[in-house]
Amino acid sequence: MPKSKHIYWHEGRVTKEDREKLLKQKGVVVWLTGLPASGKSTIARELEWRLYNMGKLAYVLDGDNIRHGLNSDLGFSPEDRKENIRRIGEVAKLFADAGIITITSFISPYREDRERARRLLKEGEFIEVYLKCPLEVLMERDPKGLYKKALAGEIKEFTGISAPYEEPLNPEIVLETDKETVEESTEKIISYLKEHGIV
Ligand code: ADP
Repeated sequence: MPKSKHIYWHEGRVTKEDREKLLKQKGVVVWLTGLPASGKSTIARELEWRLYNMGKLAYVLDGDNIRHGLNSDLGFSPEDRKENIRRIGEVAKLFADAGIITITSFISPYREDRERARRLLKEGEFIEVYLKCPLEVLMERDPKGLYKKALAGEIKEFTGISAPYEEPLNPEIVLETDKETVEESTEKIISYLKEHGIV
């Protein structure tokens, strides 16, 4: 709710449906969630590229990039993580309203925060994708060396090691990134988007 009661939501003459017709796609949020190194950034970029080559407009909201700007005032405490995801949910909603296939790439460890982001959108417009991968594989991958640092106690509140991750209960899509190739995982999302008339 706005702080002031003199703030109103304005609708223009051009609707979301009009923009979707123009773009020949539906504006949705593809919400990737999973532990560090589960493959969120990799899948987000691959999906964006595949969609671009199909003539579809997609845009990636990425964890580190958002923390450089919009959310540079936030850290990794539970409250800050909650506010981080709240703002991202709101931004994703605006992008989806613009008609864009909005791909969010954030650990988003708390179920409640993801559910709150889901509630901002209409039924079918929020597609939760859980990137599932055993911790042993993630620690072996460790592309940024972060698990190593977390295990050595150099990073506090590291999801999977010293901070919790709550698995999605009913995600629209599950990707088992230790068993699938990047192409296979991406194809699963594309198939879902096609089956649901989004692209
Ligand atoms: P995150 O953004 O979740 O922290 P990254 O995408 O940065 O994860 O890193 C995931 C690593 O796992 C990459 O090195 C990627 O090549 C590898 N990988 C192997 N299989 C898959 C898969 N099916 N999906 C995504 N990434 C995979």
